[in-house]
Amino acid sequence: MRTIGLIGGMSWESSAEYYRLINQQVRARLGPLRSAQLLMMSVDFGPIEAAQHAGRWDDTALILEDAARRLQAGGADCVVLCTNTMHKLADRIAAAGGLPFLHIADPVGAAARAQGFATVGLLGTAFTMEQDFMRGRLRDAHGLQVLVPDADERAAVHRIIYDELCTGVVRDASRAVYQRVIDQLAARGAQAVILGCTEITLLIQPEHSSLPTLDTTVLHAQAAVDFALG
Ligand code: GLU
Repeated sequence: MRTIGLIGGMSWESSAEYYRLINQQVRARLGPLRSAQLLMMSVDFGPIEAAQHAGRWDDTALILEDAARRLQAGGADCVVLCTNTMHKLADRIAAAGGLPFLHIADPVGAAARAQGFATVGLLGTAFTMEQDFMRGRLRDAHGLQVLVPDADERAAVHRIIYDELCTGVVRDASRAVYQRVIDQLAARGAQAVILGCTEITLLIQPEHSSLPTLDTTVLHAQAAVDFALG
């Protein structure tokens, strides 16, 4: 089994999901007492969140490049960055670790295509919904048309991620907000919705959504297990 290297802590609420999902999948594939061989370098999210919102991306890159180097030094065989948003810096982090980098967009794009979806909605932080680092890769590498919510809805989706989900708060009222946003994406032609923030899995499960869900946390964790056992 290869050793999975996780960069976590952004937030740790979702990193805990990665840890659970990866181990559950290894158990399902190999047997009840089997578990994943992995390293997690978990960072302090506070300074990273402050730098993101101040536009100091270079400061966040230095922290995550250091995390990737620590995983490499510790014997990891790959780097799994457990956040969509910080894939803005994927190239720098991948280069620093010098290890295979399992980009979060790739298993998501592959799952969308395998299920026959051509037009998908994308929920995530404002950075993820508004910038090109995820949308561009989904479009260029996977041929997907990506729809995002309108400005007011994006602000609500973003606020719920940072003020609630990353702090361990899961509210029914916020689930209802997400459900309305998903309904709007469906009305505009989305065939599925990408849960493009690794905490959304805490709020939205498939049964809560009028559209099929493409859960980045679940799909990325699966990709990590495929790598480890493949
Ligand atoms: N975990 C989140 C994501 O997948 C947001 C936290 C962050 O800014 O990294 O985008």
